[in-house]
Amino acid sequence: MTISLPISVRRTPAPPPGTIGVGQPEPVASPAFRENAKRQLQNTQMRKNLRHATTTIRNKRLLRVAEVPNWEDVRSAGAALKDRIGRHLDTYLAQAEENLTKAGAHVHWARDAEEANRIITGIVKSKGVDEVVKIKSMVTQEIEMNEALEDAGIAAWETDLAELIVQLGHDRPSHILVPAIHRNREEVREIFKKEMGQYGTPPPDKMSNDPPILAGAARRHLREKFLRAKVGISGSNMVICDTGTVCIVESEGNGRMCLTLPETLISVVGIEKVIPTFDDLEVFMKLLPRSSTAERMNPYTSMWTGTTDGDGPQELHVVFVDNGRTNALADPEGRFALRCIRCSACLNICPIFERVGGHAYGSVYPGPIGIILTPQLRGINSPIDKSLPYASTLCCACADACPVKIPIPDIIVHLRNKIADKKKHDKRPHLEPTVMIPVNWTFNSAKHFEFVQKAVSFAASTALKNTDYIGPMPWPASPWTRARDIPAPPAESFRQWWKKNRGGQR
Ligand code: SF4
Repeated sequence: MTISLPISVRRTPAPPPGTIGVGQPEPVASPAFRENAKRQLQNTQMRKNLRHATTTIRNKRLLRVAEVPNWEDVRSAGAALKDRIGRHLDTYLAQAEENLTKAGAHVHWARDAEEANRIITGIVKSKGVDEVVKIKSMVTQEIEMNEALEDAGIAAWETDLAELIVQLGHDRPSHILVPAIHRNREEVREIFKKEMGQYGTPPPDKMSNDPPILAGAARRHLREKFLRAKVGISGSNMVICDTGTVCIVESEGNGRMCLTLPETLISVVGIEKVIPTFDDLEVFMKLLPRSSTAERMNPYTSMWTGTTDGDGPQELHVVFVDNGRTNALADPEGRFALRCIRCSACLNICPIFERVGGHAYGSVYPGPIGIILTPQLRGINSPIDKSLPYASTLCCACADACPVKIPIPDIIVHLRNKIADKKKHDKRPHLEPTVMIPVNWTFNSAKHFEFVQKAVSFAASTALKNTDYIGPMPWPASPWTRARDIPAPPAESFRQWWKKNRGGQR
């Protein structure tokens, strides 16, 4: 039985607040991060769900990492390997193409999302089907493949449990690894009850919100799709150049079903995902499971080299996607973002992400990696993209957690510089240089500095007679001071004290 697509599974706008769940995705043409964040911060249920989930994964990750005595060395090895891959990417990609082709795969190259979607849609259409099963994949979300397939009348069924929840909830993912992290089990039950039956096998009539019961309903719903599908679509964690092998790590086994049951398999791969040799796999297989799901080893590791007669897919297509990656590679500081292995350790440790959730970032890549990767892939022209590098307190926790040592805070500062330069170049009004004029005057001379100190102490002692802190102030200080109490400046500065007590000696 083929389920036709009476209504969109992907595009239907999110339900109005107060219906299913409360986590509402930001619109695709998203406003700046600050506005998104304000809206998401009001969602107390989502914040509760997120705090619980990120705290659990974060603590578990620390335990698993502590078990590896040379963890720092493995991190350094991963970083060095990724940098070498970036330096010789042209050579490795050519080698990957050669060995994939020798093994029987068809290799395609896509400069951008549009080209990638044209290639993928063309392959699916050539098989005469109107549905595909797919494995969770960041790059297919990045290029909005499901939407492109839907435009061509093809349904792309998500088979990862969390992605299924997101798809049935007409929602968008909020986390790289746990896309439905903003939903709790009661919300999941409601989504399954309301939506599942419209797209295939319905859930049992009396379904509790127990995770095994919910997982069982999803398993039954997906099984008919697995058995029926003629085309499967996957991403890839790594493509090994010297053997032409594609590799996927996953936790649920849905990937294994997509990789083995359909007759045709299409693997969509970001060009930075190649690794030189089979031996290099060892480094990433140590780093990735511990940093992502906090496991010593992920439950399913699938590797396939071409096709085998009578076993698994008989046709394999690998679509390499650039979509802004070569632009990032051309930036000597920004290119380190391409080391990313999408483990999401930086998301789970980020205080901003924990509070605002993934939807505030207006991109499939949220959290610290999102704020350095998205503006490099998409440019810094839209309100959301140029606001992303400011979605950080620069606390540096992300850099400490990153298994491939991406200097995330340095790249954030670098991108902020780029945005400031662009504003200057566009001759648009920019507050920062104006603020810097008095700052420059103050710090340029000891006399000026002393004068400002005295003036501030005098003003503070006059204004703050009965209190020892500065409360809310008028604009432009209001955004900072309305949520923070600043200690009042001391009546006597250190310089004054030194002069009085030490006679100004040096
Ligand atoms: S930036 Fe580092 S920590 Fe964050 S997802 Fe990528 S590899 Fe993981």
